[in-house]
Amino acid sequence: MKKRILIIIALIMIISTIIRTVMVGYSFFDYSKKIIQSESELIADIIMETTDKTKILNLIKNSKTINDIKFIKEYKNDVVFDIRDKTITSFYPIENDKSIKIIYNGELYFSKLKNATVNLLLIASISLILIILIVNYFLTPYLEILDSVKKSTQHILKGDFNYKLHTRLKGKAGDFINSYNEFLDKLNESFGVIEQKYTSLIEKNPGTNPLYDAKETISQLADIFKFKRVIEEDINETVILDRLAYVIDTFGINNYMLTGIDNNTKKIFYIKQKGDICCSIQDNPALCRAYRSKHEINSKNYKNLCEFHYCKNKYFCIPFSSEGNFTGILKIMYENENISDKIAYIKAYLKETSAIIESKYTLKLLKKQSIKDPLTGLYNRRFLEETLPKIISSANRRHSKVGFLMIDIDHFKKINDTYGHDIGDKVIQTISSVILNSIRESDIAVRFGGEEFLVILNNIHSINDVLRVAEKIRKTIEKTKCPTVKKTIKKTVSIGASLYSDNCQNVSECIKNADLALYKAKNNGRNQVVIFDEKLKEESNY
Ligand code: GH3
Ligand code: MG
Ligand code: MG
Repeated sequence: MKKRILIIIALIMIISTIIRTVMVGYSFFDYSKKIIQSESELIADIIMETTDKTKILNLIKNSKTINDIKFIKEYKNDVVFDIRDKTITSFYPIENDKSIKIIYNGELYFSKLKNATVNLLLIASISLILIILIVNYFLTPYLEILDSVKKSTQHILKGDFNYKLHTRLKGKAGDFINSYNEFLDKLNESFGVIEQKYTSLIEKNPGTNPLYDAKETISQLADIFKFKRVIEEDINETVILDRLAYVIDTFGINNYMLTGIDNNTKKIFYIKQKGDICCSIQDNPALCRAYRSKHEINSKNYKNLCEFHYCKNKYFCIPFSSEGNFTGILKIMYENENISDKIAYIKAYLKETSAIIESKYTLKLLKKQSIKDPLTGLYNRRFLEETLPKIISSANRRHSKVGFLMIDIDHFKKINDTYGHDIGDKVIQTISSVILNSIRESDIAVRFGGEEFLVILNNIHSINDVLRVAEKIRKTIEKTKCPTVKKTIKKTVSIGASLYSDNCQNVSECIKNADLALYKAKNNGRNQVVIFDEKLKEESNY
């Protein structure tokens, strides 16, 4: 760049100097020619008018331009007058003959003129060289700055902010260099911080170009953030895992398997597979090394690491959310391509997925815990209060009936007194599971009190249906052996039943009527089912 500028400046100066010198020389020559011509014409005129040789010679001698002069008769070519080197060699009177030709010689003058022109060129060349040297001296540092700014920019584009500028110049140029270097330091520092931040969010090795790396990673982080916002509102794990599979597809991963395992049941509930993944575990998650160890399995780390991977391709098996009730396993199979960056981004997605699925599981669990009785696993009264109004309005809409069974264990106090509270609890648990197994999925069993249960029978057509279920429960309990350490205990229950909307018109009335019927069953000798009847109200002075 510097050379090119200097060459252009030198060429402009050389061309302009040559033009100027040629023009000056040309005007000198032209001017001199005219002087010589007018001087020779003057001499010719004088010669015509005088015959005084000395006068003519003096005239020539004093001439600065004419050395030699010849007068020739035009029609004969006779030399009538000849002066060479300011000395007369021949002279004939001209005798008024005007038709003579004058040949003059201004060589000396011209040679002087030539010397002057050469000197002019020399001076011009020397001054030109001097100018170039001076320009070079003063221009070089500025050109060097431009050159290093260009180099520094190329380094910046590659993500290297350490190419600093140097100059011997002070003043404004020096200030520029200092602030430019300061700017580079700031860039370096900022990108260092950015890199540190995103590597803490994504397990990604810093790339060679922090500029590109930052752009790419920040855009990925933005996508991950959006993904998180979306899955937060997804209804369940299956929908979330479908979305995750879609993301893995967008990374161009052609061979992978995404599995969802319920840790409570140890069952695989979700599998999405793309391409071959050479995995022979099938539906037994216990065989999966990543599931068992809760560690990432990378085929690069050890030869034949997973005994169930049956081909030569490399693989990654990444467990996610392995601490909660759900474990996800992602197996990615690949050949020789470098997928470490993709894996880093996918892991960040898995991290978000884990957090959301875990929180959804926890919420589900909390909800379950808040509506279920911990001893029996039956619903509690809180759930009943929330659900019964919905059941009644649904029955009204469908014009169906709802059965209420109030169940109480007969002589339960004796169990506690004879065998202790723990055995009493076991009996309560056994009877609860008998009740639960005797009703349909759509029915609801509630632990209503200590050893009292309320069963809501949905979609009932007549009181006979209620009676049938109540008898089924009673008879099964009668036959059931409650195992204890010392002895097998058999218990009976009494059941009171009411039917919405046949013999009660709202929830509290139905429960109360069932309770009255239960009271009657107890009074009648226990281990029996009594259907509510209006007469019971009178009997109990209701
Ligand atoms: P019956 O109902 O036949 O009239 O006689 P009962 O002996 O069963 O009388 P009642 O229904 O009034 O008995 C309630 C007893 O159940 C009182 C209490 O000691 C016991 N109980 C209540 N809740 C629990 C519990 O969670 N565990 C145990 N082991 N006992 C409980
Ligand atoms: Mg009781
Ligand atoms: Mg009882």
